Amino acid sequence: MKELAVVSDGAVAVRDGKIVAVGDTRELESIVEVRDRDVIDATGKVVMPGFVDAHTHLVFAGSREQEFELRLQGAKWTEILKQGGGILNTVRATRNASIETLVRLGSAALDRMLSYGTTTVEAKSGYGLTLRDEIKILEAIAILDRQHAIDLVPTFVGAHAIPPEFRNKDDYVALVINEMIPKVAERGLAEFCDITCEDGVFCIEQSRRILEAAKQHGLRPKIHADEIVPLGGAELAAEVGAISAGHLIQASDRGIREMAKAGVIGTLLPGTAFCLMVSKYPDARTMIQHGLPIALGTDFNPGTSVTESMQMILTLSCLQMKMTPAETIVAATINAAHAINRAHEIGSLEVGKKADVIVLDVPNYKHIPYHFGVNLVEKVIKDGRVVVARNPNAGICYG
Ligand SMILES: [Zn+2]
Repeated sequence: MKELAVVSDGAVAVRDGKIVAVGDTRELESIVEVRDRDVIDATGKVVMPGFVDAHTHLVFAGSREQEFELRLQGAKWTEILKQGGGILNTVRATRNASIETLVRLGSAALDRMLSYGTTTVEAKSGYGLTLRDEIKILEAIAILDRQHAIDLVPTFVGAHAIPPEFRNKDDYVALVINEMIPKVAERGLAEFCDITCEDGVFCIEQSRRILEAAKQHGLRPKIHADEIVPLGGAELAAEVGAISAGHLIQASDRGIREMAKAGVIGTLLPGTAFCLMVSKYPDARTMIQHGLPIALGTDFNPGTSVTESMQMILTLSCLQMKMTPAETIVAATINAAHAINRAHEIGSLEVGKKADVIVLDVPNYKHIPYHFGVNLVEKVIKDGRVVVARNPNAGICYG
């Protein structure tokens, strides 16, 4: 994760949306025919793969700024949830929203992500918690994938929370296993199945049952693991062969080692710890020491991580988890692509991959986490097309 393979005075050649050559500018000019009008001059700037946001809850309605203020006055996230707020607040608003509204809101968030340099986003359902509403959210994700420049990778999270109308948790688990997973799989609406494996939400045994059922229907497991308490979610991720496990603030040493051995990627989401004002962040240094590949994501959601900016996440990863700037870039590009099974086509500037390229107005890559709270992205090229061209003096314009 320390190696970026930086090419100084480098160039990338693109044709039909794909990278056809990459390397030293002079060498490239001798082998690739280039028309002047198609050249983007990035002299003195950083050119790198578009960010891959490996974990978001993109599609929802409503907002929770009231709770934000309550939490500042000392209210705990769990207390807010008990009073019918938190996730349940968003579930109510999302159930009441039409698919058109969800697409409009999701599209606005994607616009912001794109302008901040993100070109591929994993998007989870999970604010519906009924068969009808979970399908509605996944359909909204499919529409957004078709309509928006950003590519979306869909994940089903029917087991995100226990819906208020269910007294018995196991009854809801049965609904997820017997009705939701088969329907989602049959309609091809998701690639992955995620779950909140957490004290008071879904226990290890329920999580195992849901993820095993998902596997039988061809959905690869993902887990929200060990965020609040060390429940053993990391160990479960290794056991079920999850592609990735998210959060991991409280993951045990054993869990981290087992994940590394089983080839599970740790998706760290420091925006959530920041937003919840907790003092403990995932132990990225120990994870890297154990050989666990780390990916990063915004965890974009209306309650616990209200940001579309991967640049902000890189800064938090350096300052709060002591990752190096190079490690954060690897985690936010190629490793994030691995975490959503897209490393064969995105996440690095390599011949044959999609031409998802960003230009940042910084003299070297270390400025990306170092210079925080502002947008350093100048151009976004998606599938070989300039989709964002920002002039610092003229605001943002979309091409
Ligand atoms: Zn999440």
